[in-house]
Amino acid sequence: MRIENDVKLDFKDVLIRPKRSTLNSRNEVDVHRTFRFLHTGAEWTGFPLISANMDVTGTLAMARALGRFDALTALHKHYPVEALVEFFAGPDGAHAFYSIGTTEADLAKLAKVKQKAPVRLLCLDVANGYAEKFLDTVKRARDENPQAIIMAGNVVTGDMTEALVLAGADIVKIGIGPGSVCTTRNVTGVGYPQLSAIIECADAAHGLKGQVCADGGCTVPGDVAKAYGAGADFVMLGGMLAGHDECDGEIRYEERDGKKAPVGMGFYGMSSEAAMKKYAGGVAAYRAAEGKSVETPYRGPVEHTMGEIMGGVRSMMTYIGATQLKEVPKRTTFVRVTAQTNNVFGGG
Ligand code: 5GP
Repeated sequence: MRIENDVKLDFKDVLIRPKRSTLNSRNEVDVHRTFRFLHTGAEWTGFPLISANMDVTGTLAMARALGRFDALTALHKHYPVEALVEFFAGPDGAHAFYSIGTTEADLAKLAKVKQKAPVRLLCLDVANGYAEKFLDTVKRARDENPQAIIMAGNVVTGDMTEALVLAGADIVKIGIGPGSVCTTRNVTGVGYPQLSAIIECADAAHGLKGQVCADGGCTVPGDVAKAYGAGADFVMLGGMLAGHDECDGEIRYEERDGKKAPVGMGFYGMSSEAAMKKYAGGVAAYRAAEGKSVETPYRGPVEHTMGEIMGGVRSMMTYIGATQLKEVPKRTTFVRVTAQTNNVFGGG
């Protein structure tokens, strides 16, 4: 047994220190980024935010809505082949990742879709990116999809980030345990504070000209800003994008002024009992659920929330004097705070 004594940080443990700048207005900053990807040489320009490939948030409607903000959606794995072909053949297909796990069935389904429509963005997603078999899957996916931008994860350490980049991933997805409906830390005791994971993995990936996507744990726009400050090239959101019209969640209505009004929407982890019941007939005897079900407030169209997130990031950029999103990590100094100082609901 070993103990690492270095302090590891989460979003709530830091704030971004303001810096002198000549910027006067949020209009002077640009939240778009252009990336050239390591293995494909392909370029992508947009607002580097991705809706998570969960049942509720990884929907076709979300991909269409976020596409209007030049942002991306990782589709969940459960659409039928025909729906995916139609979607990827159309203009919105450019705004979505096709998600797969490691099973032969996943790869066979992808092959069927690819016969009829281009798949430019691939998300290879497993709960534990440390399994040796996962590296093999990434290598195979790279061989079979030389033109696709491949995002693979999840991991939380520099060594495994490098291994995934070398195996063929353009973007490595970072995060074990920080998700809003994830219970991995409680059930297994395994995890890594998310801000430190992003800092360490971004450093490892960038050294090899790869990119990282910070996945999980953002609860307010300021957390998205901190993730970019820590070096995240992309940020993936589940809970913050749940509860919207574009989601596929069960809506709960209440009687208000004699009318039925939507007040809440179901949201569940993809390793929760709810998800396993839906897709595998229940939780297998050898495993425990590592996710939970919650209700998020109903929040109407996602447009408003996207405006808040982009507004928050723009405002952070004016506070630190960054005109381009890519300058943000260079201009970020985090100050450590106590949980009490970092009162996201307070004034100021
Ligand atoms: P959020 O933005 O809600 O904090 O985090 C979203 C991320 O949580 C997803 O992209 C995914 O990586 C992770 N996640 C989703 N469902 C589960 C689950 O059931 N268990 C665990 N451990 N993580 C989950």
